[in-house]
Formats: sequence, structure tokens, C-alpha cells
Amino acid sequence: MKEKSYIVVIQCDIVMQRCSGYLCEHAFNERKGSFASYPKDKPYRTIYMTCGGCCGRAVHRKLDDLIRMFKKAEGVKKDKIVVHLASCITKDNYHAPPCPHLDYLKRLIEGKLSLDLVEDTYISKTSAKLREKGVYEK
Ligand code: SF4
Ligand code: SF4
Repeated sequence: MKEKSYIVVIQCDIVMQRCSGYLCEHAFNERKGSFASYPKDKPYRTIYMTCGGCCGRAVHRKLDDLIRMFKKAEGVKKDKIVVHLASCITKDNYHAPPCPHLDYLKRLIEGKLSLDLVEDTYISKTSAKLREKGVYEK
């Protein structure tokens, strides 16, 4: 991940009706969870956005716009961008089971837009224990 400079975090639109996204941002700031491999001394640009609501189709147009804006305004190529799907999308968690459209979202991001994708953001210790116990499925 050292070669990336722009991190885009996609969060579940439904969950974001009650979540500020603090724990995602905190995990990035502390380089924890799925952000652990990013060097702490390297400055990154970060953008947080929601999927736009079920079925997540807006992810394509939002990211497509971002790719075009980065290129037009700053000459940034898309291989400098990495997209994280927030843990509320990828994992069974306090809010709900994983997004039922997870494969579709991945297809849009990796397949259609050819962007590098990482699953997860903040990893809750409590949820991880419940996953180990089988209370949460994934
Ligand atoms: S992973 Fe957690 S903190 Fe991040 S958007 Fe989802 S519910 Fe909020
Ligand atoms: S498509 Fe998935 S991530 Fe988006 S609002 Fe629906 S359940 Fe949440």
C-alpha cells in the first residue's frame, strides 16, 4: 500500500444514518484494522463516502466521477487510488449482517472501474470475538 496516495472509504448508506464514521477514521488515523499496512509517516488524502443506498449502484458513478476529477484537476492516475469497503459492508457486525450486494459492489469497483480494493476498515474487538464464537457469521 506504500504506492497508494489516495484512500477512498465506502460506507453503508443505511448504517451511516446512525453512524458518524468516527471509528473508520480513527482506525485510519491510528493505522489499525485494515489500515495497518499504510506507513504512519506518509501523508495520505482520504475521502469518505456512502454507497448511495441499495443496491449500491451509485458507487460506480461516484467513483467514476472521482477518478475523472482527480485526473482533470491533479493529474492523478487511478493506480494511486485504493478503495476500502467499510467493515459494516463486508462483515457481520453490530449493525447488521454483511451487505447483500457485496459481490455486486466488488464487481463495480474492481471489475468495471479497475480500482484496487481492500475489504474492511475498523475491526471491532467485540465483533471479532463474536465471529470467533460463531455468533456472527463472517
Ligand atoms: S465500519 Fe463502523 S465506523 Fe465505519 S462506517 Fe461502518 S459502522 Fe461506521
Ligand atoms: S447496498 Fe449494501 S452497503 Fe449499500 S446501503 Fe445497501 S446494504 Fe448498505
